[in-house]
Amino acid sequence: MNQRQLFLQHVAQTSPAPIALEIIRAQGIYQYNVNGKAYTDLISGFSVANIGHSHPKVVEAVQKQAAEYMHLIVYGEFIEAPQVAYAKLLTDYLPATLNSVYFTNSGAEATEGAMKLAKRVTGRSKIIAFNKSYHGSTQGALSVMGSEYWRNAFRPLLPDVYHYDYGSQQAIDAIDNTVCCVILETVQAESGVTAPAKEWVEAIREKCDRHCALLILDEIQAGFGRTGTLWAFEQFKVVPDILLLGKALGGGMPLGAFIADKKLMNTLTYDPVLGHITTFGGHPVSCAAGKAALEVLLEGGYISTVKKKEQLMLSLIRHPSIKKIKSCGLWASLEFDSFETNKKVIELCIEKGLITDWFLFAPECLRIAPPLIITEDQLSKVCLQINAAIHEITD
Ligand code: PLP
Repeated sequence: MNQRQLFLQHVAQTSPAPIALEIIRAQGIYQYNVNGKAYTDLISGFSVANIGHSHPKVVEAVQKQAAEYMHLIVYGEFIEAPQVAYAKLLTDYLPATLNSVYFTNSGAEATEGAMKLAKRVTGRSKIIAFNKSYHGSTQGALSVMGSEYWRNAFRPLLPDVYHYDYGSQQAIDAIDNTVCCVILETVQAESGVTAPAKEWVEAIREKCDRHCALLILDEIQAGFGRTGTLWAFEQFKVVPDILLLGKALGGGMPLGAFIADKKLMNTLTYDPVLGHITTFGGHPVSCAAGKAALEVLLEGGYISTVKKKEQLMLSLIRHPSIKKIKSCGLWASLEFDSFETNKKVIELCIEKGLITDWFLFAPECLRIAPPLIITEDQLSKVCLQINAAIHEITD
């Protein structure tokens, strides 16, 4: 059997039609297949590779930490320098109330931990979530996912979860003193990059404050410069009670985190003791990689280039078949008339050496989210290639 057959036979399949490119090396904004063909990565592993692939400083940090030690003991028992250093760096760049980091293995586990924390802090169970939101695939995270199609297949799920439209007045009205928490993506990813109105986010924050409900902001996809600021919430002038991070957090290694004030976080420490535990959460190699990646992101000044690159992208991508373009930073969604058209464009882009994809709740929209290190020249070139692909498919 060849690699493709072995992949289909022995690696569990998440869809009947995986992209199934066979990549043997990735560097910077490119991924290379077995024949040496270069593909420009326009999705960054869904906002993981914000500083590109296998950055030398990240590789060095991984190698150094792996040689020193890997796993020692379950999370939280020993003082492990990579966790301490990364938690310190993250909190240095966060508002004062986000001062305690609970590292997990993934984004979904960060969601789970945050919802448990909110229950303990408030003593309530009612959760407000949003249609077309994605927070992970575990059962708690699935319960707050914004699609009945996916939720229903796995019921029964968590009780007491209520979904509203993102940006709706009904969501604001629903927050009262029975609500435990509101879980919200600062910029909604899988609906096709939907940025909410500032006033709406402020109103949600204000209602949460008034009724002592916690605001959880999910920046697992939106964080680490993707939207043009290190954290997307900076643009909305609100601070969450709990922040969810993942994806780019690990610099390519598996890592998630929920971050809150120490006073809140302490509720997981007592009664019951060990209220939330994980074996591999905050793996030292992942923390070393993540810290190195964040340093590269900050020291390279990449975030300050994002808005300009966004404007460049918006000025170059144009075709009458695009019904609508939504963007927030280096993160865009091009809407076509149907999934069928979008799929053909995506397939042709891949043939032309551009990796792109659709959105979970917006299958008619093409995703563009390149590594933030992409140069203006490289970006201009891919925009023209995308235009050409759309022209070939739709004209
Ligand atoms: N939240 C958001 C906004 C995401 O995009 C994702 C993953 O795509 C998650 C949570 C879940 O993260 P993970 O796949 O690491 O569990």
